[in-house]
Amino acid sequence: MSDEEKIEELRKKRMEPKVRGTTPVECPVCKTVRAVRTDNLKIIKSNICRPCYRKSLHKHGKSTSKLYTIWVQNKSRCRNSGDYHYARYGGRGILWSKVWEEFPPFEKWASAHGYADGKSFVRINKDGHFEPNNCEFV
Ligand SMILES: [Zn+2]
Repeated sequence: MSDEEKIEELRKKRMEPKVRGTTPVECPVCKTVRAVRTDNLKIIKSNICRPCYRKSLHKHGKSTSKLYTIWVQNKSRCRNSGDYHYARYGGRGILWSKVWEEFPPFEKWASAHGYADGKSFVRINKDGHFEPNNCEFV
């Protein structure tokens, strides 16, 4: 199945009446689609599934893993039309910088720009893109 077909599939599922009260959510790392209870949607912070999150913990350690989550999550919001938050990001033309296509350059930028545990990754101009000149940690 191509990416387009997958997205179409997701869209169709979304539009079906919520018989069982669940919404399909696609993990941006492994592309697995899982059902999330609709009333839980507001409290899930990320589309990343638990196994992928755990894997990232092993791979990167706790602090880096949080940064990794920030990277996957925001990239997905801009690029993946199946993302729960897509409408507020990619859907309104907000782009994820090509400079941060891969995680290592993002990690490098973050440590040079004051990333620390507990800090939030924000855009300076909220209508601007996710790119090095428009982002900071606060
Ligand atoms: Zn996953």
